[in-house]
Amino acid sequence: MPTLLRCLRCGTAQPFDPAAYLCPACGTGDDGADPGILDVEYDYAAVDPAAFGSVPARGLSRWSGLLPTSVGSASLPVGETPLVAAPRLASSLGLRELWLKDDTRNPTRSLKDRATAVALAMAQAGGRSELYCASAGNAAVSLAGFCAHAGLRAHAFVPASASPARVAWLRRFGAEVHSVDGNYDDAFAEAERQGAEHRWYSRNCAFNPFLVEGKKTVSFEIAEALGWQAPDLVVAPVGDGCTLGAIGKGFREMVEVGRTERLPRLLGVQSDAVQPLVRRLRGGTGYAPDGTTAAASIAVRRPRNALRLLAEVRRSDGTLLAVSDDEMRAAQRRLAREAGVVAELTSAAGLAGLEKLAEEESLAGRSAVIVITGGRLDDDDS
Ligand SMILES: *Cc1c(COP(=O)(O)O)cnc(C)c1O
Ligand SMILES: [Zn+2]
Repeated sequence: MPTLLRCLRCGTAQPFDPAAYLCPACGTGDDGADPGILDVEYDYAAVDPAAFGSVPARGLSRWSGLLPTSVGSASLPVGETPLVAAPRLASSLGLRELWLKDDTRNPTRSLKDRATAVALAMAQAGGRSELYCASAGNAAVSLAGFCAHAGLRAHAFVPASASPARVAWLRRFGAEVHSVDGNYDDAFAEAERQGAEHRWYSRNCAFNPFLVEGKKTVSFEIAEALGWQAPDLVVAPVGDGCTLGAIGKGFREMVEVGRTERLPRLLGVQSDAVQPLVRRLRGGTGYAPDGTTAAASIAVRRPRNALRLLAEVRRSDGTLLAVSDDEMRAAQRRLAREAGVVAELTSAAGLAGLEKLAEEESLAGRSAVIVITGGRLDDDDS
């Protein structure tokens, strides 16, 4: 049962309310300040650890005790993606074991579907029929696909630079495409403006407090597949910070309810051209001016869920690092040729980052999971 919403910036708690959005005191955090993102807290004592995940349900509804809403069976089926062993990559990295959590096998090919399923359930429970999001691709495609399936209207705000392959997916699913002059951050601002004006339901994971809850279910599935154990390391690419922040939260909650015993170290990977969170973890400023990368899904210059991400990384004794586009391209080829998994460029940042960590410290005897967050190929992917 969800009980409270606590602001990650000022710490103020309010009773759980499915209509809440940002902290009323902190708001959007304009002028470079962090927004007041709300975090859902639950009645953890009421969750029976032995029964956690073992209910005879499918997809996200297996985790209903730790979700803000029930995700009915009418949704496109989400999650239950395979944990793929990658022994060839493990041995070259010096790891004892390496797995790839292949979230490209979601309905629209990315982990974003876990958040979208929650967004649709919340929107429908509130009687809303139009949803919006800002996205360079996957979040919008996910929203478009789920809305097509449910008969709802999707508004996608995409930066003018979005890849034609991704925009084609939006049109295929019948979404309304709003092309915004500028980058992802400009598209985000425009989406929030129009969304509020028309009272559409937000599928912007960075602001809507409930979407991270969908994303964290990837952690539950990883631990379950490992016999309710956390691996030593969990690796994911980082843009706004919602995905890895959610992964950290999922592992913490399993310890909280007594299902697992320890936390994995989190390794977050950014592009070296746009690495505000890497800089901020090391004490610098959290804003990345210009710099371009082909890893569009993590090219976020002003990350909104920074407080969550940094808190989870620190709690886990983890770290953040940056890789170049060339390193991502090489990792993308290795994932295909040495593990049989096709990842999009952004997702390949995970392996590139783990390779970099292996140069800095020995990974001998350790186990790691790389979350393969998306598998949509763009026209320039080789
Ligand atoms: C959105 C996305 C990410 C990054 O998620 P954030 O929540 O923005 O940090 C990583 N990989 C892929 C494929 C994505 O679509
Ligand atoms: Zn606040």
